[in-house]
Amino acid sequence: MATFNSPLLTSVSLPVMEHFYTIQGEGFHQGRAAYFIRLGGCDVGCVWCDVKESWDADKHPKFTVESLQSKVLETPAPLVVITGGEPLMHNLNELTDALQLAGLETNIETSGAHPLSGSWNWICLSPKKFKAPLPEILPLANELKIVVFNRSDFAWAEKYAALVSADCKLYLQPEWDKSVEITPLIIEYVKQNPQWEMSLQIHKYINVP
Ligand code: SF4
Repeated sequence: MATFNSPLLTSVSLPVMEHFYTIQGEGFHQGRAAYFIRLGGCDVGCVWCDVKESWDADKHPKFTVESLQSKVLETPAPLVVITGGEPLMHNLNELTDALQLAGLETNIETSGAHPLSGSWNWICLSPKKFKAPLPEILPLANELKIVVFNRSDFAWAEKYAALVSADCKLYLQPEWDKSVEITPLIIEYVKQNPQWEMSLQIHKYINVP
């Protein structure tokens, strides 16, 4: 087991719903080995949320930054994805400092509805209609991922595409339970608007976490 000691490690702890080593199933880093840390706590309230059990942070055990760093370093993961829940409900400075000091890439998947904290190699912004992202995160996004639930979401996606930086990757991803209906619409939209790409949740097709 690899170990890493850092003077930056603190007693900060965070509610963790689950953590696991897998491959990234969606978006720009799809297919890469990645360690996922799913933090508890979310107040965004998406009706189609597939991790509603994450919403109440108090229902999840707290892990120190040091223990999370150790868990990741037990694996050869080059990349850590911090997700949720809405991970930015927590201050993530200490966690990302510790991970980056250990030589790990840090990626976040966020709705952007809370102030940005942490140091990130990659920010995947997935805005939600139920609680809008804060304006300051929009130019910082490396990837804009829009979950498409119905036809009106294409116009909504374009609203955010106009607000992110010129080099931000643009993804349309079918909401899982409506993917049979929505995927053909996305294919046609991407063909007509090739600045967008389609993102599929490959991990769900191949049945890995
Ligand atoms: S932001 Fe994510 S975790 Fe929160 S309700 Fe929406 S889909 Fe669920």
